[in-house]
Amino acid sequence: MEQSIENKLIKADKAFSEWKKTPFEDRQKLIAKAAEILKNNSEKFGTIITTEMNKPISQSIAEVGKCALMMNYYADAENILKPEKVDSEYSYSEIHYVPKGVILGVMPWNFPFWQVLRFAVPAILAGNTVVLKHASICFGSGNAIEEVLLEAGFPEGIFQNLEVGHNEVKEILEHEAVKGVSLTGSGRAGAEVASTAGLNMKKSLLELGGSDAFIVLDDADLDKAAKVGAQARLQNCGQTCVAAKRFIIDEKIEDVFLPKFIEEYKKFVPGNPMDKETKISGMARPDLANDLEKQFKKALENGAEIMIPLERISDHEFKPGLIRVYEGNPILQEELFGPLGMVMVAKNDEEALKMANDIPFGLSNSVWTNDKDRQLFFIENLESGTVNINRMTSSDPRFPFGGTKASGYGTELSLLALKEFVTAKTIVGN
Ligand code: NDP
Repeated sequence: MEQSIENKLIKADKAFSEWKKTPFEDRQKLIAKAAEILKNNSEKFGTIITTEMNKPISQSIAEVGKCALMMNYYADAENILKPEKVDSEYSYSEIHYVPKGVILGVMPWNFPFWQVLRFAVPAILAGNTVVLKHASICFGSGNAIEEVLLEAGFPEGIFQNLEVGHNEVKEILEHEAVKGVSLTGSGRAGAEVASTAGLNMKKSLLELGGSDAFIVLDDADLDKAAKVGAQARLQNCGQTCVAAKRFIIDEKIEDVFLPKFIEEYKKFVPGNPMDKETKISGMARPDLANDLEKQFKKALENGAEIMIPLERISDHEFKPGLIRVYEGNPILQEELFGPLGMVMVAKNDEEALKMANDIPFGLSNSVWTNDKDRQLFFIENLESGTVNINRMTSSDPRFPFGGTKASGYGTELSLLALKEFVTAKTIVGN
């Protein structure tokens, strides 16, 4: 490991020994200040995001605004980490929540500010310090976040951006100063990082891929479902873990819904990412576009039919595509991380549920019906970390966010995230 990186780990560890003693409320004040800086400079930071990964500028600015909202949520949050008394026969009978120390964040490029802060803010508020290994195309975002936190008044060493490649993650995680890791990204990266964490007895949290279903039943508001469905697939150029990727349509409304959906879908025309009117622009990297094109071909070779062709218009840009996919197509076991949607048609609710669950992932799902019994049926039986009723999935700081099955483990957001990187220390006796 380069000496400059090891120095940062040591600095984070030293900073932890003071930070853990800082009152929760004082940490909250600094988070509120950082939120204000982000909010007041959302165009500046949005421009960094768009320059790095091509997201339409209006979506980048919105991402920065959402970070500020999330940080204000934690700035006002109840302190659930206060010592808790437990009823017992002992005079000492308490649980203390003790921060673990330096936590490594391995973060992706799709939401370069949000993913980092979503992990780092509750970890830091709980008394930990953070070192970041950001995606290699997002070091500018990582540095900007570090500067914001310093400007807000966080002491040096509480949050540091490491500017390292992924080959260096193993050694960093193995370092004795580092006590845990949170990774958002692919299953491949997640499995490697979690293995290293496991071998070294360190806590890990994984937020990986998904292939969320967007289920539209015959009694739904079809106009709204069509409009929101296109948005749910194509926002951020389809590069969102909780994007709707499989549209499962009740056969009774197939003929009415699909033309509306296609019309909405075609409104997403690729444009200049710096233009505030642009709704969709290019993918983050040409190799990711190559992967999507290969998956498109694989789907077609296995019987999928084209509803709207996926058209490559530059090394990293597509006109969005839509395919009709049948059960048994191996593409259904993969995540499509780009502007390509899959449509399936179900005979009844049972079949829609079976299709929705028949994947390795379990991140989130969205169900469109106004019938309470049908809503309940899907709420109880969908295998995912989140179920949305008559809305697309979008994370909200107030609610837990995380997956099941191959989508990972652990909880981000909400008050629960405060307890991810702490030890519940039992104090008992007389
Ligand atoms: P990766 O999982 O490769 O990248 C995410 C982060 O993990 C980056 O910081 C990356 O660093 C790092 N990383 C990659 N490999 C390792 C490793 N072996 N050990 C430690 N860290 C590692 O995602 P890609 O950018 O390659 O995207 C590929 C696919 O991953 C997408 O098509 C999508 O399916 C999924 N993905 C899911 C995301 C989500 O939000 N859940 C976000 C991004 C991707 P570096 O940039 O240096 O390689």
